[in-house]
Amino acid sequence: MLSVLRQIVQEVNEAQDLQEVLRIIVERVSCAMGVEACSAYLVERRKHHYLLVASVGFLDGVDGKVTIPLSEGLVGLVGEREEPINLSDAPSHPRYRYFPETGEERYSAFLGVPMIHQRRVVGILVIQQRQPRRFDEGEVAFLVTVSAQLASYIAHANAGGVMTHFTVTQSNLPSTLHGIPSAPGIAIGTAVLVLPADLDAVTDKEITDIDREIEYFEQALETTRADIRRLKGHLAKTLLPEEQNLFDAYLSMLDSRSIKEDIIALIEEGHWAPYALRKIIKRQVHKFETMEDPYLRERSADLLDLGRRVLANLQSESPLPHTYPHDTILVGDEISASDLAEVPQDHLLGIVSLKGSANSHVAILARAIGIPAVMGVAGFPAHKCDRKQIIVDGYHGEVFTSPTQAMISDFARLAAEEKELYAGLDELRELRCETPDGTRVALCVNAGLVADIRPALQVGAEGVGLYRTEVPFMIRDRFPSEEEQYLIYRQLLESFAPKPVTIRTLDVGGDKFLSYFPVTEDNPFLGWRGIRITLDHPEIFLVQLRAMLRASNGLQNLRVLFPMISCISEIEEALRLLRQAHREVIDEGGNARFPETGVMIEVPSAVYQAHELIKRVDFLSVGSNDLTQYLLAVDRNNPYVANLYDSLHPAVLHALAIIANAAHSQNKPVAICGEMASEPTAVIALLGLGYNQLSMNALSLPRVKWIIRNFTVVKAQQLVKEVMNFHHAQDIRQFLESALEDAGLGGLVRGGK
Ligand code: PEP
Ligand code: MG
Repeated sequence: MLSVLRQIVQEVNEAQDLQEVLRIIVERVSCAMGVEACSAYLVERRKHHYLLVASVGFLDGVDGKVTIPLSEGLVGLVGEREEPINLSDAPSHPRYRYFPETGEERYSAFLGVPMIHQRRVVGILVIQQRQPRRFDEGEVAFLVTVSAQLASYIAHANAGGVMTHFTVTQSNLPSTLHGIPSAPGIAIGTAVLVLPADLDAVTDKEITDIDREIEYFEQALETTRADIRRLKGHLAKTLLPEEQNLFDAYLSMLDSRSIKEDIIALIEEGHWAPYALRKIIKRQVHKFETMEDPYLRERSADLLDLGRRVLANLQSESPLPHTYPHDTILVGDEISASDLAEVPQDHLLGIVSLKGSANSHVAILARAIGIPAVMGVAGFPAHKCDRKQIIVDGYHGEVFTSPTQAMISDFARLAAEEKELYAGLDELRELRCETPDGTRVALCVNAGLVADIRPALQVGAEGVGLYRTEVPFMIRDRFPSEEEQYLIYRQLLESFAPKPVTIRTLDVGGDKFLSYFPVTEDNPFLGWRGIRITLDHPEIFLVQLRAMLRASNGLQNLRVLFPMISCISEIEEALRLLRQAHREVIDEGGNARFPETGVMIEVPSAVYQAHELIKRVDFLSVGSNDLTQYLLAVDRNNPYVANLYDSLHPAVLHALAIIANAAHSQNKPVAICGEMASEPTAVIALLGLGYNQLSMNALSLPRVKWIIRNFTVVKAQQLVKEVMNFHHAQDIRQFLESALEDAGLGGLVRGGK
């Protein structure tokens, strides 16, 4: 049975659309199980019924025509009970209903299994047989396995509405899709599909005009070449010149003679260009993937990306470079940083991504540039929305397709009010960040690119609370040298001096990869990451520490932060290496002061040892993104569990209280540098818990300052005392939202004034 299942899954993966998927399922299942009828129904919740979408053993032409109300018939019963129903004589069951259009009265035996995705029934799979009999345990288990494996696929493919194939007008109806609110704001604009091309979906087609096909292909290559050059140009503002070399590697791959010649040879055999491209790119990717050299192995992803870019250009109606309307909302399977770079900054209004979650690095980038984003929108029908108007509500994580005029006016009003609200915040720049009852809170920025410096200075940040050094490491094809690092850190420290700059030591592993330092692990988030890697590689760590210390010569505003500390010996060893690097720099004639040091609290063990850790350093800084992930055992990038990821979970708040108390017991400051520091509701809690410094993206800073200047510490402490007794994150969030509303700050959490 396992091999049958594998074959079904493989065929499903190669299918063109949901219709074909369901047809494959009913045909293969009826054949594998030797039954006379197999049928698949999908839920149309808005219409309160199931729709028969594929069948074997029913009359011809019934698919798409038969509906069963949600609470009727045996199909309805399977959905209500959310479990298999196995009957030898179905017509004698009180819930049996006869549908003459199917001709199913011939069947006695009935086995119905619900297809359930994320706790919701998405459809029902039924097998039937003339002969009365109960299906045996193995048969039930097989059908349950088939539907469990395919439910998520079906839910995703069907999120835009049941089988628009059957109901053509459906795609023009307004529809609301839910994802993860990942960057606040409202955008009304034109959806632009990112890399619509999926190499795997390309099938073969015979062609007769070979010369024309080759010409198409060469045009597509040329367009891709131009695209990449343009991309390189766009990022010139964001990256240092030598960091742009990344794109030269792309270009040289594109010009590889053998790839081009192999593709043309296939076209000459009569295959159309998209298929020839698919075949050769996949062959090359496979070659790269099996290479010994890890650097070359990593290039397979680039090659695949390139293949998709060329395919996109082959499929594009006009071979001209992508044009972006002035109100672009990027939509796609997985939006990357380079996709963002493609769009002129003043044309980009929003982002909708099927994959990823609020803490994916793309989401962090979206917040940094102030673009509303909704991630993990399972089943977003991106292809159908291309170049159509959509609305993105980054506050609530909602995307509206085919919006009505009334919806557009409502959201346009909210967006206008939002703009007005933020325009008012500019005036806060020069004002102190202090509560009305006189408590100072330092507001700092998180940074990772040279381009982050200017916006940070513009919003009046009091320093850098977190500089993620991995960004310059990630965009190279080898470890940066001490001198290269020195130049970056020096520019950063100089720009902010005398304000403090907290530079975090290299924090790779988990979801942050270095193409030239591949690590294969079953559980990367529980594996070799952060300080664990750098302590194991003092030759890399010392170079980085020396670069930081040398860069601080004469400026004395460096603070060094160590990530992912999970036991005391790690911080002791890290400090020993820092002392060694400092000694070396001094011996070489430098005059760097020994920097202030801090431990990131990101792992549960560090929470319970915070009182010991703080004795060894000058400050603590909570990485709430990871702390939430590890405390709740919820992968921060996994959309399947994104509903469980909540920094206002009572356990997280209690941990934050322990950490703050540990620092304060030694009269030392405690900071937070995860995304939580910019969430308005969380800011009240952090204020009440006594956090001294909040570090966030530059764009959120004025908003947070506004909250702090309008909220007394006494009030925040009272609220925290109350929420500490709550049991559910949702209750805490609602309670804090209404506190914001009462203080006249409700516009920060819902759009509008
Ligand atoms: C965090 O974990 O909260 C953090 C700031 O680090 P990063 O997001 O870079 O893992
Ligand atoms: Mg972290």
